[in-house]
Amino acid sequence: MSTPNASGWKPGTPVEGHNAMSGPDTATGNRALMLEEPLLFEIGHVETTGVDLPEPKGGTNRLGGFDREAAIGLPGLSEPETIRHYTRLSRQNYAIDLGLFPLGSCTMKHNPRLNEKIARMPGFADVHPLQPVDTVRGALEVINELAFWLLDLTGMHGVAMSPKAGAHGELCGILCIRAALEARGDAREVILVPESAHGTNPATAAFAGYKVEDIPATPEGRVDLEALKARLGPDVAGVMITNPNTCGLFERDMKAISDAVHAAGGFVYCDGANFNAIVGKVRPGDLGVDAMHINLHKTFSTPHGGGGPGSGPVVLSEALSPYGPLPFTARDGDGIVHLVEEENAAEFEHTKAFGRMTAFHGQMGMFTRALAYILSHGADGLKQVAEDAVLNANYVLRSLEDMLDAPFGPSGPCMHEALFSDKGFAEGLSTLDLAKAMIDEGYHPMTMYFPLVVHGAMLVEPTETESKAALDQFIVALRSVAERAKAGDESLKTAPHYAPRRRLDETQAARRPVLAWNDPSMA
Ligand SMILES: *Cc1c(COP(=O)(O)O)cnc(C)c1O
Repeated sequence: MSTPNASGWKPGTPVEGHNAMSGPDTATGNRALMLEEPLLFEIGHVETTGVDLPEPKGGTNRLGGFDREAAIGLPGLSEPETIRHYTRLSRQNYAIDLGLFPLGSCTMKHNPRLNEKIARMPGFADVHPLQPVDTVRGALEVINELAFWLLDLTGMHGVAMSPKAGAHGELCGILCIRAALEARGDAREVILVPESAHGTNPATAAFAGYKVEDIPATPEGRVDLEALKARLGPDVAGVMITNPNTCGLFERDMKAISDAVHAAGGFVYCDGANFNAIVGKVRPGDLGVDAMHINLHKTFSTPHGGGGPGSGPVVLSEALSPYGPLPFTARDGDGIVHLVEEENAAEFEHTKAFGRMTAFHGQMGMFTRALAYILSHGADGLKQVAEDAVLNANYVLRSLEDMLDAPFGPSGPCMHEALFSDKGFAEGLSTLDLAKAMIDEGYHPMTMYFPLVVHGAMLVEPTETESKAALDQFIVALRSVAERAKAGDESLKTAPHYAPRRRLDETQAARRPVLAWNDPSMA
């Protein structure tokens, strides 16, 4: 492939700032298996086309005057050119199928291929949300079955299956709380959120119209129960608490927190994104939680990243269940699963729904994968998921705490993620430098600068799907870059050295993204 494009640029010509791997330059700009890849617009050409279709014979134009007047301006590429383009790009990307993905809070775990096989069965993959209900009974059965197991695992009363991700589930839960308060004529204004909360928590509360107030953390990284109790009162609608929290610690006072909030007339929202650390071991319903989203794409392994897809069912207490959104599935006396919508809500005694979160019933592909994951693990397997996730994180914590500062290490074991700080790094070297050096070691960096309660935070979540050998190699890599950061190795500042691209101007990329390609020949 060597069609020069309009700008005269020829594929394979090294471009400034490209791969800086040491060694002599190559004529193509490629570095062995690392192939340079320009934009589609630079490879293809608007005047070429990938297919040769014969001119249509006869027939009448039925476009009703909406014919295109000018060329569409898209580059023409052949099928192999197109496929190679995307394959080459995919090889420059990190993926859970390539290696350990230590992003704390994100739970990047292996997605068993069995899930994919089930999700691709045509009866699930090809259904359309507007199909007559009678033709999708099997799909509704799956949604209902998954709902049953989510309730069983959490010890809750009802579940809204339609929210499309964790943050969407948070909004659903907070809207249930608001509906319940309004129903008793008790409009409250404040939601309390701990300092260590995921950013989506205060954002959700604010989006739903609440004032957000911080609750401080104790020096050992947990919610300060006394400070929380002192703030409770008739203006507090509820609290949003992540458990296990974003410092990787279990909130041991959760039941006392719930009791205090309930006694003050408020509701307890639990951010359940970290449910993988306690699934099969602890039921949030037993801790007094009123609403909790479950990130199916984290705990139950359905693939995620790059913005989707996700699914965030919200389990609800008996007090909040009547307000859960439509639609949902329910089984009638004859054992048939129905879709409950506005028109049949009264029949299923669900007339107080606050409204809807989505047009349809939720993310079918995520539901099938999550149910396959739950059923293939079984009760004992899911319990082991939590145990191994916690064991792996503690292995990482204890293997590194002599090299990296672990602020909450001394206060006991962590849950599913290990938290480190930048304390002890040489002057001028930061968490960012260490993270970039991890790219050279062949790893996606860990979560950085979150949670905010720890300086230069590094949050590592290995998940249960990593073997000891995989963890040992990761630990060797992290130890080595941490040692260099402490010793003041200046080469960290320009890491990564071996990646297809090096340090990008992330601020400019976020503030002034270049989203359109302008043909340089037209300039
Ligand atoms: C991932 C996460 C969320 C948000 O979930 P999304 O599915 O990304 O919207 C909220 N809270 C915590 C603690 C999380 O880890």
